[in-house]
Amino acid sequence: MDIAIAGAGIGGLTAALSLHANGLRQVTVFEAAREIRQVGVGLNLPPHAVRELVELGLGEQLEQAGVRTAELAYYDPAGKLIWAEPRGIDAGYRWPQYSIHRGKLQDMLAQAVRERLGQNAIRTGTRLATATNIAASNRVLLTGEDLQANAGMRFEADLVIVADGIRSALRDHLAGQVTPLATNGWVMYRGSTRAAPFLSGHSMVIVGDEHQRIVVYPIGDGMQNWLLVRPRDASTQVTELGNWNLEVSPRKLAEGLGDWRFAWLDIQQLVADAPIAWEYPMADIDPLPRWIYGHCALLGDAAHAMYPFGSNGASQAIIDARVLAHALATESGIDAALQSYDRQRRLATAQVQTANRHQAGDVMAKVSSLARRAAHADAATELLEVERRYKQLAGFDVDTLNQRASWSVPPGAAPASSAPD
Ligand SMILES: Cc1cc2nc3c(=O)[nH]c(=O)nc-3n(C[C@H](O)[C@H](O)[C@H](O)COP(=O)(O)OP(=O)(O)OC[C@H]3O[C@@H](n4cnc5c(N)ncnc54)[C@H](O)[C@@H]3O)c2cc1C
Repeated sequence: MDIAIAGAGIGGLTAALSLHANGLRQVTVFEAAREIRQVGVGLNLPPHAVRELVELGLGEQLEQAGVRTAELAYYDPAGKLIWAEPRGIDAGYRWPQYSIHRGKLQDMLAQAVRERLGQNAIRTGTRLATATNIAASNRVLLTGEDLQANAGMRFEADLVIVADGIRSALRDHLAGQVTPLATNGWVMYRGSTRAAPFLSGHSMVIVGDEHQRIVVYPIGDGMQNWLLVRPRDASTQVTELGNWNLEVSPRKLAEGLGDWRFAWLDIQQLVADAPIAWEYPMADIDPLPRWIYGHCALLGDAAHAMYPFGSNGASQAIIDARVLAHALATESGIDAALQSYDRQRRLATAQVQTANRHQAGDVMAKVSSLARRAAHADAATELLEVERRYKQLAGFDVDTLNQRASWSVPPGAAPASSAPD
């Protein structure tokens, strides 16, 4: 079976590795960028995502490239602790939680794809534009642009995995309309700064309230990653939604952080010292009514872009990839596999998208209002309950994850879908 994957991001590359692990080896990944460069900043991979990468044989590489996250702690704007909990192995999971530079993770996955599927398995500089199901052959025709050759390109496959991110061109072509991106009016600013370790050296902290908050965690090589979130200032222009590459001045951002200089971490200095920062108006999409179009399946942000609360954007893309590859190896025929994938993933991820919208607004407002009234214990109880429910929803409550069967298909098991329908 020929499988084409649109997008060599976290989801597309994990899909290629998962298919290969299950014996589906005729896989080509098309990537619009001319090369895979280390763009983006940090990501957090909770144990449900780490388990999948470990089962793909990437445990050692993750340990090298990432930093184990041992605790998550919430602080109020005065730097007073509201609530903390252990994370990863310290929380009883069989797998660690890692903080990692997104570029390093993408690089690690791309390297594994090239080693396992061949040096030409990823075709960079190829921007796909359309995917058309061909009734007569039960195949899919992809068209786009070969940016190196400055020419059009065509490619046929039995199955297309659409993993081209939040502004997916193929999703919109298949649906026959542009999927609108939603925003809650908040903007996130991302950066990383060379700075001394803080707290345990393996802590992820969330500091602030409903007016402004920052998430900070180490990502290795002496770098502390930060993500500052603020409502859009009425005087600033609305910038493009879904563009990860808009640069801003870290010094200007730090101006609003004058009070956030704590003995355990000088947040103002941390932000001011970053060599560069990126602005990203917070964007997601409404849960989609449909992921499957003939022999094309949406995956990752193309299927369920979500607000970045709860470290689940990359994690849910990784899980999509594993579930889809498992279904293709165990169901009889492509159509049955795609239906199974849709059943297992579409509504589950819709719940995470909705929960993330809720976390972005009302949860933070409630917790902050309790903290302002010095009711830190009540705020802690609220956060504990929110985190407990969220882990269940997103598939990483300790017992469920530790006991759930693997999505790996044992070696030698014949891929049921390997012949096209
Ligand atoms: C440049 C960049 C920086 C990011 N930085 C962060 C960050 O700092 N923090 C964070 O939480 N998340 C970040 N993300 C998003 C994060 O990676 C995703 O939310 C998550 O990993 C889900 O992965 P995905 O594979 O679905 O999408 P992505 O990781 O976004 O991957 C999509 C891939 O498809 C490629 N692509 C797009 N259009 C086409 C096309 N027409 N044809 C072929 N290829 C195409 C893109 O170049 C990209 O490589 C970033 C994404 C990008 C693209």
